[in-house]
Amino acid sequence: MKPQVKKRLVVIGNGMAGARAVEEILAKGGSIGLDITVFGDEPHGNYNRTRLGRVLSGEDSEEDIFLNALSWFRENNITLHAGVRVERVDKFSHHVFASDGRVVQYDQLIIATGSHPFLPPMEGLYTPSGTIRRGVFTFRTLDDARRMIVFARQEHIRRAVVFGGDSLAQEAARGLRAQGLEVEVLSGIRGAAILGTDPITGVSVSTQADRDCHMVVLTAGSRPNVDLAVVSGLAVERGIVVDDHLRVMDEEDVYAVGECAQHRGEVYGMVAPLWEQAAVLADHITGSDRGSMYLGTRTIPHSNAGSLLAPSGGK
Ligand SMILES: Cc1cc2nc3c(=O)[nH]c(=O)nc-3n(C[C@H](O)[C@H](O)[C@H](O)COP(=O)(O)OP(=O)(O)OC[C@H]3O[C@@H](n4cnc5c(N)ncnc54)[C@H](O)[C@@H]3O)c2cc1C
Repeated sequence: MKPQVKKRLVVIGNGMAGARAVEEILAKGGSIGLDITVFGDEPHGNYNRTRLGRVLSGEDSEEDIFLNALSWFRENNITLHAGVRVERVDKFSHHVFASDGRVVQYDQLIIATGSHPFLPPMEGLYTPSGTIRRGVFTFRTLDDARRMIVFARQEHIRRAVVFGGDSLAQEAARGLRAQGLEVEVLSGIRGAAILGTDPITGVSVSTQADRDCHMVVLTAGSRPNVDLAVVSGLAVERGIVVDDHLRVMDEEDVYAVGECAQHRGEVYGMVAPLWEQAAVLADHITGSDRGSMYLGTRTIPHSNAGSLLAPSGGK
């Protein structure tokens, strides 16, 4: 009997949705028929993003929050390119082109590129060369948390302002307080400006008195990461447009999952929807249930991630 030729599955994005989709695919027998390659922009294994606040506060170590360390990928015969960004997809020849020059062919492609922090228009935010000013931070990745900790622990850094009105702002503030800083959370960002250059010396807020601070954290929402999909000619509105099978509109073999995906007009910013999406996606990728459909997530419990983790491989 001829050996079965495996299909090549490429996953772009090793965040919570990408890795969850891979776990679901393995749980549904995907390793038998699929050669899986994962590209992840971040130079780590896969970690629980919802616990970054606890890393910032020192309650969790970095090791505590890993779901699938690099060794997990090796043990499951998954090729992981960690720290490698995919720049473009050629959907006609079925190739992905990565930042390290690598070109990989796929039979099926999953895009799970998540979101990036929204940077509001704000005077003083950028240096003349266009980089974000030293002392200003976003809060999305493990590297963001690491950078904030290193910065906050300097002797002369004593006060921080966190801009943002949601639980992410509260988590950032709580973490920085635990690092010994005096922290104020400001929800109104309109007309705000960063004062000073290097170091920054404070913020001005349109209707209130200026605040002195040495550090600013911006948690003003996030936007689906669709740049790759746009340059690759995929259907994009607010997010990458998918159907009830998580298949990208007008594409046969390209799927999107997680915060980068737009389903029935909705984009989601929490874990529960992407867990449900990953399960349906895996049904279709493995062929285990061709009738499986994602119809949207209606109730999103507050801070739901802790109770929903890991059906198969994760902690
Ligand atoms: C601090 C914090 C706390 C949170 N707390 C909660 C909570 O309590 N409850 C809850 O439900 N949700 C919470 N969330 C939201 C939750 O973490 C997200 O909904 C979830 O991580 C989204 O998963 P994702 O895979 O779509 O995106 P991400 O987890 O952001 O993963 C996307 C990955 O793709 C990578 N990537 C992007 N572009 C490319 C490319 N071109 N090539 C290769 N890789 C690429 C990125 O680097 C990233 O690693 C929190 C988020 C943060 C930041």
